[in-house]
Formats: sequence, structure tokens, C-alpha cells
Amino acid sequence: MARITLDHIRHAYGPNPTSDKDYALREVDHEWNDGGAYALLGPSGCGKTTLLNIISGLLQPSHGRILFDGKDVTNLATQARNIAQVFQFPVIYDTMTVYDNLAFPLRNRGVAEPEVDRRVRDILEVIDLAPMARRKAQGLTADQKQKISLGRGLVRNDVNAILFDEPLTVIDPHMKWVLRSQLKRLHKQFGFTMVYVTHDQTEALTFADKVVVMYEGEIVQIGTPAELFERPSHTFVGYFIGSPGMNVIPAKLAGNSVTVGTETLALDYAPKAEAGAKTELGIRPEFIRIGREGMPVTINRVEDIGRQKIVRATFAGQPIAIVVTEDAEIPSDARITFEPAAINIYANSWRVGREG
Ligand code: ATP
Repeated sequence: MARITLDHIRHAYGPNPTSDKDYALREVDHEWNDGGAYALLGPSGCGKTTLLNIISGLLQPSHGRILFDGKDVTNLATQARNIAQVFQFPVIYDTMTVYDNLAFPLRNRGVAEPEVDRRVRDILEVIDLAPMARRKAQGLTADQKQKISLGRGLVRNDVNAILFDEPLTVIDPHMKWVLRSQLKRLHKQFGFTMVYVTHDQTEALTFADKVVVMYEGEIVQIGTPAELFERPSHTFVGYFIGSPGMNVIPAKLAGNSVTVGTETLALDYAPKAEAGAKTELGIRPEFIRIGREGMPVTINRVEDIGRQKIVRATFAGQPIAIVVTEDAEIPSDARITFEPAAINIYANSWRVGREG
């Protein structure tokens, strides 16, 4: 397994890029730990597949280098990078048995037959296809075939990394959950470096120990699920993670205080923003309290979502969402307060922390 260094990578598909918007990947400069499980998360078109293809060698970046364990692999072809890939649609040999499909990548590398047998049997158990080992892949269902693809990615133990590009798209919802949990368990057991592309936040948050959030060709945050929830670095992360996403409200900063609408709140630090920057306050719906104290709010509607309710309201002229428990009382002249520790301040969409 390998540490992956993305050294000032930029990529444009067209010739002669001139401005940032000509780049599908603007600038990616990060180091990913050996044995880490990373999910690349972001909306369609943000550059996830471009970055994955640069890691796998299907694509050469326009600028920058990629290193595996410090060794420059930028100009190496996919085959020479020693990685396993699992794509959105199953890539398997229909005329081979399930067993032989899994054995193929090992036999191809000259692994001795007893070792092939041991590893294939292990993985057959993991993907739950042991009873079908001798069946031809032809005629299996789409999710069984995708399980074989996953198995082929997992069966080798000499790879630098396993790359997954939305591998669970064709899998039914229950099986998605099962496979995700199995992948997580395998990761703990074997310590593969895994990079997993998805636009589904549940998938990213349950699979990865580090989630890489991408937006418009940039990595806007790499963090644990808790960090993304509590301290979104960019307002996009706030919107994208969570359901409903973070409320982002225009705000004015003055020293240790922030003003939203007609209300001024005290902070325990003085956020620093450039003069003229667009400044906003971010607060997650889960950290707003409703009662008879605090700032005035107009309730528009209440949505019941099982054990919780989402209150849709207007605050300081802006739509705001508030999450409360199902038995919470919502007074007609409701007022709200924000949990001070859950307030985030943004300048030009980027979080301004205590550190400035
Ligand atoms: P999706 O989830 O839809 O696959 P993504 O986040 O993986 O999206 P990419 O496929 O990496 O995004 O695309 C990033 C940008 O690059 C998009 O604007 C896309 O239109 C553009 N792009 C991708 N592939 C090519 C290509 N072969 N030629 C030209 N432009 C491309």
C-alpha cells in the first residue's frame, strides 16, 4: 500500500487554458496517508473522476506530479502503477466462473495455486458468493456481477491502492449497506489505501475515515465526518453535508460580535476578514433552539420526518431551517437562539476561525 502525494496538480481537457474556469481541476496539493480510506465527494462535474483517473494513470495531468511512496509515477501507465480499480459498471469475464474471475488477477501475476485458492475462498466469503463459485458469471444479476468486480479489487494484497468509482450505483439499497460495511471491515483488517468516488454523502461518511469534499475543480475540505459537520471550511461543505444543510445567513462583523438582521451576537473571538469581503454566519439546523427567548422568527411550516421535525422559518429576512425533536413545542410567537459553540463565520465563503 502506498502514501499518495498529489503535488500541485492541475488539469484542463482543452488546449491553451487561460483562466481557472478552463481547468477541470484547479489546484490539488495534498498528501494522502498510506492505508487511509478516502472518499472523494462532490456534485456532478466537480472533478472527482478527473482526479481518480489522474491517480490511476488513465489521464496525465496538465501540470504537477503524482507520487506513490515518494516515487514519481506521473508518466507511468496504469498497468505499471500496481493499483486495483472498481468501476461503476462491472468489469468481469462472463464466460469464466465466479471463482476464475477472482483468481484471474492473481494467476496473471504468477501467484502459486494454493495461495490463489486460499485468497479466492476468503474473498468469496466476504462478497457472499461462495455458493456460486463454480457458476459462470454470465446470467448473474447486476449486483452479483458488481460483487465479483469488488472481489477482484480486493483479492490482491500487493496493490498500492484500490480505486472505486461510484461502485455501488447498480447495487440495490440493502446490499449497498452490506457491501459498504464489508468494505470498511476489510479496510480495518488489511489496511488498504482506498480512494472511493461518490456523490452520495451517506456513502462517503460511512465508508471513509477522511472525506475529501470537491467543488468546482477544487478540494474545499478534507476531514473526518465530524469535522465536516461541525466545522465546514467552506459554505459549500455546510450546504452539501447534512440534511437539511447548514443555514448560511448574511452577517456583519465588528470585533468580537456579529450582527444578523437586527440582532447582535457576542463571539468569544474576533474573526478577521478582509475589508469588503462577503461575510456570513453559518449555523446547522440541529444547533438552533426554539422557545420564547431570543431572536424573533416567523414560522412558515413544520415537516415531520419521524423522530424529528424540520421547522422552516424566516429569520432576518432569510429562509432558515431548524431541527427539533418530534415532541418539541413550537410557540406561535417563537424565538430562537444559536448555540454559541456551533456558530461558524465565513468571509467570501471560506471559514474564518479563531486562528484568523
Ligand atoms: P460525475 O459525478 O458527473 O462523474 P465528476 O465530479 O466525476 O462528475 P468529472 O467527470 O471529473 O466530474 O468532470 C469535471 C469537469 O471536466 C466537467 O466540467 C466535465 O464536463 C469535464 N470533463 C470531464 N471529462 C472530459 C473530457 N473527456 N473532455 C472534456 N471535458 C471533460
